[in-house]
Amino acid sequence: MGTVLNDSDRGRRLLVTGGRVWRESGALLADVLIEGGRVAAVEGGLKPRDGDEVIDASGLDVFPGFLDIHVHAGDRIGPYELADSWASAAQLALRNGITTLFGFVTQRPGETLTEALHRCRARSAGAACEVRFHLTPTRWPWDWSEIETLMGDGFRTFKLYTTYRDAGLFTPYDRLAEAMGQLAPRGGRVLVHCEDEATLAEAARCAVNFRDPFSHALLRPPAAEVAAVQRVVDLAHRTGCPTHVVHVSTAEGASVVAAARAAGAPVSCETAPHYLLLSDDCLRHGDGHRFLCTPPLRGEAVREALVEQVLAGAVDCLATDHCPFRRDDKDAGHGDIRAVPNGLPGVGALVPLTFEALVMRYGMPVARWAAALTCAPARVVGLDGELGVVQPGARGDLVLLARTGPPQPVQASLADVYDPYRGASTSVSVRWVIREGRVVLRPGARHAP
Ligand SMILES: [Zn+2]
Repeated sequence: MGTVLNDSDRGRRLLVTGGRVWRESGALLADVLIEGGRVAAVEGGLKPRDGDEVIDASGLDVFPGFLDIHVHAGDRIGPYELADSWASAAQLALRNGITTLFGFVTQRPGETLTEALHRCRARSAGAACEVRFHLTPTRWPWDWSEIETLMGDGFRTFKLYTTYRDAGLFTPYDRLAEAMGQLAPRGGRVLVHCEDEATLAEAARCAVNFRDPFSHALLRPPAAEVAAVQRVVDLAHRTGCPTHVVHVSTAEGASVVAAARAAGAPVSCETAPHYLLLSDDCLRHGDGHRFLCTPPLRGEAVREALVEQVLAGAVDCLATDHCPFRRDDKDAGHGDIRAVPNGLPGVGALVPLTFEALVMRYGMPVARWAAALTCAPARVVGLDGELGVVQPGARGDLVLLARTGPPQPVQASLADVYDPYRGASTSVSVRWVIREGRVVLRPGARHAP
């Protein structure tokens, strides 16, 4: 995992000339030389040698390969086999300039965490992107000798849930505190799904019409997220364990993270495109059950306020929580929200639609948008300097993007799913994608060679 190099690549050189090369601090007009799969130089006036492959990037934006650190594919969630395999998710990701995906290894009953990892790796082998994993141990107490071995192999991120008791994923705050206290000195990090079980239980006491998709939003209110985020960032402060809050769906949740970060807590957060682009209005129509996800889509005012938080810098990363259920599985629950699997696809929407919305519509600086897809997620997964940056020594993964092309349809997934962005098109076009110095997508090609 993590390399596509073979012997013939060792001396391979690729020169990308004249592009706007984006870094966290802004853009510079420069050439990028990749040699042996790694960035060798970023400067003006680099001259090709005989045999070098040269790409003219004049007029194009050059970014490090994008990361999506929150993807579900090639897995079964409860009784539902996800619609995307890793092959199909990675194929679409690559077309969109995403060169690294992170999925989740969730330990099943009767299985060690290492066995779970092998199961997931077997299903991601051969994917067109790099696929890496966060780990979810589900047996308490954790087997620390196994965890330490896995951490030694580079698995340092642990995904935990403050909810989902029925699915066997719930971690109470006292156990979360203990795990964080143990992980901190070992160099681990937790990623936490934040919805407070007590607040959810309170919401469930009201009369609920399970036929109405909007009830899902009432059952999982913003207050549940905010309460859990507050508890979890307090634990991060107390234990010193680096903590990343996944799929923040409310402005208040994002601002709690931002305030804790400003106060010195080792915290970060992500939001997903559907919380920025869609609202709970989608739940009010006849096909509302197809838009069910957890946390739920929020009201328009919350959505707008979350966008403001992103523009203000409160949210570190953009990540999809791509969770593609088959049409049949979504529709089987029509008429009873308890029977609808919760999740939305998004891998194909992440890059074009967040660029269109955040940069083109709301004026977010390109460098800040790019950071949320590159260096910020690379930091969360402990791969900063290696991924998410165009600088000498970094992995030679690049995306060359044109901002204005002919409108093209946006497709959230290649699988048989309901697309929450159906009808959307984009003028953003990913022209070239390079993985470890090798061209894997070129203009006009719909598929990697
Ligand atoms: Zn998820």
